[in-house]
Amino acid sequence: MRLILLGPPGSGKGTQAQRLVQRYGIIQLSTGDMLRAAIAAQTPVGLKAKDIMAAGHLVPDEIVVGIISDRIDQADAVNGFILDGFPRTVRQAEELDDLLKQKRMTLDAVVELKVNESALLARVENRAAQTRARGEEVRADDTPEVLAKRLHNYRTQTEPLIHYYADQRKLMTVDGMMTIEEVTGEILRILDAIGAGESQAKSKASRKKAAPAKRSASGAKRAVKKTAKKAPKVKAAAKSGKSARKAPKKATKGARKTGRTAGHRSATKTARKGAKKLTKKRAKA
Ligand code: AMP
Repeated sequence: MRLILLGPPGSGKGTQAQRLVQRYGIIQLSTGDMLRAAIAAQTPVGLKAKDIMAAGHLVPDEIVVGIISDRIDQADAVNGFILDGFPRTVRQAEELDDLLKQKRMTLDAVVELKVNESALLARVENRAAQTRARGEEVRADDTPEVLAKRLHNYRTQTEPLIHYYADQRKLMTVDGMMTIEEVTGEILRILDAIGAGESQAKSKASRKKAAPAKRSASGAKRAVKKTAKKAPKVKAAAKSGKSARKAPKKATKGARKTGRTAGHRSATKTARKGAKKLTKKRAKA
């Protein structure tokens, strides 16, 4: 599964990415984290990025595109990844499209976390307080002044991506003002509806089965059974078209213009398949 999480600073992209990582066994690629690691290690990229980031500006496109291009070639990215904080400009999105094409990879969905701007300052202040409480150093750009700049950048440079991905029929919008659990639930429902969640969960289960080193044979069997039990639920959700109906309603103008989101398309297909099977069964009976 390959996903992009889109949203302003403090919208919960990092938190949601970590939850999806656990669920699907894919990796989170946060350009912000990678740049902070580069700064800490004082690499040439880190030295270039340090002052730019502290001032709340965007690091040049070629730097972040280079980082992502190298990273998605690594072995741990083979099962998929969640891009968190990338792309942030239309140019980065275009470069990402080219990269994925060259590497024969496809993007499953772009999940936009929609939040009220008024809540963001409180969230970022909360994050800084929690970091301080853990005895860790607070990010240089988590201050009200720099946050204002980062928000301005988001509005002017990153928000156009909403239309970019809506035009590609990849955009799914989730209300990021709900609780963390509710937001995760909504994302999982959307991913199931487009067929990405179900297949990824299955491949995670089969990877575990293939490498049972840390688990007893019976434990592995139980895990597979558990996944198998979950499958009908997912199908039922797709069949009812519940999330599928929700996604286009919340999608941006661009997506509505095209009439359907990927979620809608795929869930409808699954529902149709289900209906066909049912008709055949009935005919036999
Ligand atoms: P984040 O951790 O995603 O909030 O990013 C922190 C900072 O890192 C941003 O304010 C930018 O200065 C820089 N940064 C992270 N990702 C990107 C990107 N895709 N393009 C440009 N700058 C970035």
